[in-house]
Amino acid sequence: MSNITWPDLSAAQQPLWPDSAELARAQAILETLPPLVFAGECDDLTQKLAKAAAGDAFVLMGGDCAETFVANTADSIRARLKTVLQMAIVLTYGASMPVVKIGRIAGQYGKPRSSDEETIDGVTLPSYRGDAVNGLDFTAESRVPDPMRLVQTYHASSAALNLVRAFTQGGYADLRQVHAWNQDFVSTSAPGKRYAEMAEDIDKALNFMTACGADPEEFRRVDFYASHEALLLDYEKPLTRIDSRTGNLYDVSSHFVWIGERTRDLSGAHIDFASRISNPIGVKIGPSTTEKDILGLLEKLDPNCTPGRLMFITRMGASKIREILPNLIEVVQKTDHPVVWVCDPMHGNTQETASGHKTRILDDVIDEVRGFFEVHHKMGTHPGGIHIELTGDDVTECLGGIGGVSEDDLTFRYETACDPRLNRVQSLDLAFQVADMLAER
Ligand code: PEP
Ligand code: MN
Repeated sequence: MSNITWPDLSAAQQPLWPDSAELARAQAILETLPPLVFAGECDDLTQKLAKAAAGDAFVLMGGDCAETFVANTADSIRARLKTVLQMAIVLTYGASMPVVKIGRIAGQYGKPRSSDEETIDGVTLPSYRGDAVNGLDFTAESRVPDPMRLVQTYHASSAALNLVRAFTQGGYADLRQVHAWNQDFVSTSAPGKRYAEMAEDIDKALNFMTACGADPEEFRRVDFYASHEALLLDYEKPLTRIDSRTGNLYDVSSHFVWIGERTRDLSGAHIDFASRISNPIGVKIGPSTTEKDILGLLEKLDPNCTPGRLMFITRMGASKIREILPNLIEVVQKTDHPVVWVCDPMHGNTQETASGHKTRILDDVIDEVRGFFEVHHKMGTHPGGIHIELTGDDVTECLGGIGGVSEDDLTFRYETACDPRLNRVQSLDLAFQVADMLAER
């Protein structure tokens, strides 16, 4: 048994495990497994995020809404990583500052749900809560929460993170290679054609760096961090360890974790958990967030005003961000807390089509990011980054983009286990547009 004790607080969105002895067995296994990340790596990320808090870096977070055990193949992980790295180069150029790269990857297996149950054709079953809890198949058997899935989550995360580390440290992600992929996007896709000039400029910049004697080895490695929502406390707590260097607690399931919009209750178990770990952390902030919420979160999660410790991930919706965000920024500005402001333009812009598909329109996503930039410009604060649900595959889940996906296309490749993701082309289109916004500042 771990010697870490936790207060008994209420936790929203937790599965009702049918067999508590089985849960205890799963947790005992998790407690013995090695950490997936090293506390020192988490501290490095905090340092990088401190730059974003100070206005000297931009954060790109991206990946699946819900990873699944079957879909996390090498091809799929590679395509996602490739897309995020392609976006990062473009954003680096637009921002003229470092881009901190964080995947929603290697641990994003638990989902909060707006309803405990799902009804299809008159049959009602427990909702799918992510592969860490139950199965996506709509059968009574598959929807029973199984604690051993937490152990499977650890192993799936370990395998994914191992591949991410191999790709990002082993030369696959060489900057010149990533840029060659971007040139391919620019020359072969309809949205890409608009960005030929920017791609040409990036090419010149890379050639210039090479001509100036930049170390080719420097181009070969990229720092890439893992993140997921710290939702399932039965998973996160057994993977929280005391760092031998400092005596502090770290959640070693991932470099970065965030608390979701539905679980950020100030007196609840999730915020208490986040307050005790020393990882850099995020909190999702929706349109109902009050001044009191913000002040409570700042006090609980960042008592020492540590740069890079706390990120607010705003997810207001395109129609609300310009109205709501200024007040929340003002509340933070009156304190000494150096938060990183990141825009999630996905979760406030979800809608359902007549065919019953959950979708998002690329123009809404881009408009929310634009609103985020406008507000920060007006307030004199730094638009610190974006948080995107995306995949590297050519899925048809979100609508729009030039020559993009229409409502009729949704049935063609609608593969997400939860929320609709931008596909590869939509993601790159977004990145070029955000690079323009960054360059305009
Ligand atoms: C998510 O990030 O997938 C999610 C559920 O977000 P939120 O907590 O902002 O609704
Ligand atoms: Mn989601």
